[in-house]
Amino acid sequence: MPRKIVVANWKMHGNLATNQQLLQTYIDRLDTLKNVEVVVCVPYPYLAQVQSLLQNTSIAWGAQNLSKDVVGAFTGEVSASMLKDFGATHVIIGHSERATAYCESDENIAAKFMQAKAHGLVPILCVGETLIEREAGVMEMVVAKQIDTIINLYGAQVFANTIISYEPIWAIGTGLAATPDQAQSMHEFIRHRIASHHQEAAASLKILYGGSVNPQNAVQLFNMQDIDGGLIGRCSLSAEEFEGICRAA
Ligand code: PEP
Repeated sequence: MPRKIVVANWKMHGNLATNQQLLQTYIDRLDTLKNVEVVVCVPYPYLAQVQSLLQNTSIAWGAQNLSKDVVGAFTGEVSASMLKDFGATHVIIGHSERATAYCESDENIAAKFMQAKAHGLVPILCVGETLIEREAGVMEMVVAKQIDTIINLYGAQVFANTIISYEPIWAIGTGLAATPDQAQSMHEFIRHRIASHHQEAAASLKILYGGSVNPQNAVQLFNMQDIDGGLIGRCSLSAEEFEGICRAA
């Protein structure tokens, strides 16, 4: 049985003191879990803190964004090589909160995905539809377009050993998670879409579900065939709830 992956997305929360406490509790409660790979994605200023506290643990860590550019006059940006320099292993890309607030296009997201890959970081690519799109029944078209942008620009083989997180926008931070069947159906769709271009890439791809996962609904969600784990926002800020989710994996 392959290990599930559970990723904490702290978003713009925390400070040195609260992070220290939370990370220590993560270590105490999660470091020895065998059936789950735990990753924590923190705001940039705290990369040094996770680097120091999580070294010699099984908990991996990374960032929540990166630049689409390599180096140069891009004030305020952080490059893939800088993340790699710190020892980060993962990076969230195209989270809907960024795509909406900072107008990230599918093409920019695709370029970021490739930057991560080029520097040996595991990209966690977020895809998902709005409530209006789901109600209109076009959710698969929307997600297909997000994925096809990368396939058309760079080829489906780039999805090998990467992570996609299906995050219906209507489920993020709302307390209203997708049902296990809704999530499974989209995960299957994503895997088939990539498999139709590149079988091996689809087989090595992990597909996480994100959107109001909690310790209760995690059990059923993680039991679905194509759900390889979760991307967790709010509940990752509570060591108890995050542990509950990791134990459900
Ligand atoms: C997220 O930020 O990706 C997320 C899924 O948040 P939440 O778990 O709070 O819905």
